[in-house]
Amino acid sequence: MPLRSREIRLAARPRGMPTPDDFELAEVEVPDPGEGEVLVRNAYVSVDPYMRGRMNDVRSYVPPFALGEPLTGGAVGRIVASRSSRWPEGSWVVHDLGWREAAVVEEKRLRAVDPPAAPVSTALGVLGMPGLTAFVGIDEIGGVKEGDTVFVSGAAGAVGSLACQLARHRGARVIASAGSAEKRAWLAELGVESTFDYHETSPRDALRELAPDGIDVYFDNVGGETLEAAIGAMRLHGRIVACGSIAGYNATEPPPGPRNMFLIVTKRLRIQGFIIRDHGDRWEAFVAEVAPLVADGTIGYRETVVDGIERAPEAFLSLFAGDNVGKMLVRVGPEP
Ligand code: NDP
Repeated sequence: MPLRSREIRLAARPRGMPTPDDFELAEVEVPDPGEGEVLVRNAYVSVDPYMRGRMNDVRSYVPPFALGEPLTGGAVGRIVASRSSRWPEGSWVVHDLGWREAAVVEEKRLRAVDPPAAPVSTALGVLGMPGLTAFVGIDEIGGVKEGDTVFVSGAAGAVGSLACQLARHRGARVIASAGSAEKRAWLAELGVESTFDYHETSPRDALRELAPDGIDVYFDNVGGETLEAAIGAMRLHGRIVACGSIAGYNATEPPPGPRNMFLIVTKRLRIQGFIIRDHGDRWEAFVAEVAPLVADGTIGYRETVVDGIERAPEAFLSLFAGDNVGKMLVRVGPEP
């Protein structure tokens, strides 16, 4: 009997904050894999903030999602049928046909779950794309070194929590902002020296208090008011890692820019954006360093798991409410 798979499609282009009505659940029959293809039964699919931008009908570094089509994104699953000599049935793989329970995937779009010893869910989080983002941001873009004071926003999320820990591992002092007491407590457990909740204390006041001598590196996941405060707190020759700007992803008008941009000149700051798909060449170095640290517990991670593909829109929306601690995942099928 052919496999049936439920999937989430984009029903309407959201304006501002998406609503459940912007998504629809559909069920399809999955075809048999053709030559060079495999059939993957997904165990987890990822919901990520960048997907919000793809829901708009604008050209960006990735094309927009098509209306009425299933959404795509990171997924990890097991090959249940294979017509690829390279990928035997039973292998666990990562691919980009998420937001559905099962998919036929071309062999060139597969990556082995690496390392097989860690729970497969980590392949979408601490040992996956968000992990690599933290690694590249801290080292290549931020040039974090011993003795630096590093400020990370969105610090209890998938990228932020590893960015904090890698910065500490490089010998930096870390200041972190996050949206709840639970998140602050977890960051303290991870060894982050100073934390604040940006709902309670303005980033400007918090940085004045926690970094009276300024910060060397700002790892920006949120933009907005926090970015302005960080520019104000930067030391001479500071570096800003422009990773994301989630505070503005649902804006209906262009959000106002930082009002203190001239400080970039006077303080000789460097602000550099990056898109992680340009940095695939760092993958091996990332896994070689971070996987053993995750395995021996030196690096901690958390996951917030929502069950059922029908709840993927809810999981996605809750990223903007800050409901996730660590990586937000949707469990859609059996795991090993
Ligand atoms: P997270 O796991 O950090 O989840 C998103 C978090 O953002 C929420 O938990 C919430 O935490 C916080 N948040 C939501 N709304 C706001 C707001 N208005 N102001 C401040 N914080 C908010 O997601 P990721 O780790 O996957 O992504 C983190 C950032 O990195 C995003 O900006 C993302 O776009 C970016 N990114 C960039 C990549 C690149 O290639 N440049 C690759 C991957 C991610 P809280 O409770 O603290 O508010």
